[in-house]
Amino acid sequence: MKDIIFDNFQNNVDGSLIRHKSIIDIMTKLQESEARINRAIAKSVTNCGCIEINAKKQKIPEDDSNLSIENLGECLQTHISGKICENCRSIIEGEIGTHLFYLTSLCSSLDISLYDVLVEENDSINTLGKYNLR
Ligand SMILES: [Zn+2]
Repeated sequence: MKDIIFDNFQNNVDGSLIRHKSIIDIMTKLQESEARINRAIAKSVTNCGCIEINAKKQKIPEDDSNLSIENLGECLQTHISGKICENCRSIIEGEIGTHLFYLTSLCSSLDISLYDVLVEENDSINTLGKYNLR
């Protein structure tokens, strides 16, 4: 059972990709779009200021007998404080959309179904859960 939205999205991407049809163009545009997501997040910090990044070494308690892989995520932090504003959210969402476009283009160029990839990854997550160690 295929998901209609995913198939429509992939078909629409396929139909609208004209200038960057070469796999080399797609690969480099995918990399560029990823960098633009990171840039948009950085600008949320350095230009807008709606979020801050306070990164430091993740601390995992060594002597906590209640600590297990099930609750390890509770000890780890995102290092983000604050919440992205609507303007930054809109910009980041746009960059993520562009990234999805080129990711989908990459899939199509290699005759890979984006939906099949999503289903397989979801199955892996369901099977391994927190034991996938990502
Ligand atoms: Zn902002």
